[in-house]
Amino acid sequence: MHLYQDQELKIYNSLNGKKEVFTPLNEGHIGMYVCGPTVYSNVHLGNCRTFMSFDMIFRYFRHLGYKVRYVRNITDAGHLVDDAEDGEDKIAKKARLEKLEPMEVVQRYTVDFHTILQKFNFLPPSIEPTATGHIIEQIEIIKDILEKGYAYEINDSVYFDVSKFNEDHEYGKLSGRKLEDMIANTRELTAQDEKKSPQDFALWKKAEPQHIMRWPSPWGDGFPGWHLECTAMSTKYLGETFDIHGGGMDLKFPHHECEIAQAEACNGHSPVNYWMHANMLTLNGKKMAKSTGNSILPGEIFSGNNALLSKAFSPSVVRFFMLQAHYTSILDLSNDALLASEKGFNRLMDGLKILKNLDTAKSSDFDVPAWKKKCYEAMNDDFNTPILIAQLFEAVKHINAIKEGRENISLEDKNELQTTMNAFVFDVLGLEDKNDNEGDTDTLSSVVELLIQLRKEARDNKDFATSDKIRDQLAAVGIQLKDGKEGTTFSVS
Ligand SMILES: [Zn+2]
Repeated sequence: MHLYQDQELKIYNSLNGKKEVFTPLNEGHIGMYVCGPTVYSNVHLGNCRTFMSFDMIFRYFRHLGYKVRYVRNITDAGHLVDDAEDGEDKIAKKARLEKLEPMEVVQRYTVDFHTILQKFNFLPPSIEPTATGHIIEQIEIIKDILEKGYAYEINDSVYFDVSKFNEDHEYGKLSGRKLEDMIANTRELTAQDEKKSPQDFALWKKAEPQHIMRWPSPWGDGFPGWHLECTAMSTKYLGETFDIHGGGMDLKFPHHECEIAQAEACNGHSPVNYWMHANMLTLNGKKMAKSTGNSILPGEIFSGNNALLSKAFSPSVVRFFMLQAHYTSILDLSNDALLASEKGFNRLMDGLKILKNLDTAKSSDFDVPAWKKKCYEAMNDDFNTPILIAQLFEAVKHINAIKEGRENISLEDKNELQTTMNAFVFDVLGLEDKNDNEGDTDTLSSVVELLIQLRKEARDNKDFATSDKIRDQLAAVGIQLKDGKEGTTFSVS
């Protein structure tokens, strides 16, 4: 017996704008694809919010007992600057500017991406495929689309023929656009444009001689269009039809629309049953943009090293802050909002600690089974984490009342409450109790204080070689000593 057999889960499907009861293609199994990052710069906090939403969704499915194959790709080629058809490959551009091999750029920012996600306590996806690792699969799809008549080759590039596709399919159904309106609202093609229509998109682009990222193909040396990789990798690992496709709201058009068109052109049917889109993160009420200074990197929040912040915030506090909003709502980040979340997070963690040591009575004043039902109802209603969190605080209120002797709880209810709280707080929301590390911090402090003492004794004995050695070796592991009037203090970087 799995938990999911008892629960009716509803998902907001972006494809039709309706909340629908979720039924997977294969009972007990879920295939989920989420568009991953383009690894040409440090991961954006807004992207972290998207991936965090799907991490929470992945965690809840697992909690319910589903076997989930979660595929999240890495875009390491083919994504052009400004999402344009004629721009430069984002990774190739960065490589040229920084005089690096494109794969050095990819490696550097893939490592950054994984490091930040690990700090946020993300579960790794089941498969994390790369675009460059699936060039052959992408070429096969282009051949198939050409054969079916929905693409054309011109000057060694291949484009998807949107008008042709729209004759017997519906282009624009995900984003609610009509092809006629799109045509009416776009500029005329210029003489340099080789596409038949501005709506057509590249499946394969010919590589100019200076282009460093290139692969041989039936149409000559080139590289795949950005939309193609997700169709290739989702089909390969999840099949022609799979349960869930997710991504940021900004990917709905054109990226996801093009994915649908490519897959339908190949297979004649829709690739995805449930489309899910996570909303964006703003900063102090405005869109985040490096150019205006209204921007913050995840690492800057953890260190407090940004003029917009009064202090550092732990990854769990940021995670808690993000999950306090529903994934389909716009969320605004500010110093005040983080301070408020930190307070709430600490209250929740304190509640869990108090719960462990609560005395029990013969009967309960807190209806734990009814409360537990409400927690599941919140999550089953399109993963409503803000309501779940409100329920967790409702429990904390009772926990405090029981501690103060104003209410009672039975042993059975206490155990049930503890199991449920732990499951939602740690397994589903993925929060970590930072105070769990307090022991480590205490130990570190004692060890460093001991070394400071030994260094002082060395200096008193004019053994400067030893005192410098202690200082330098501590610095090498990220511990800085600072000598002042009051003695020596240390900081950890
Ligand atoms: Zn994608």
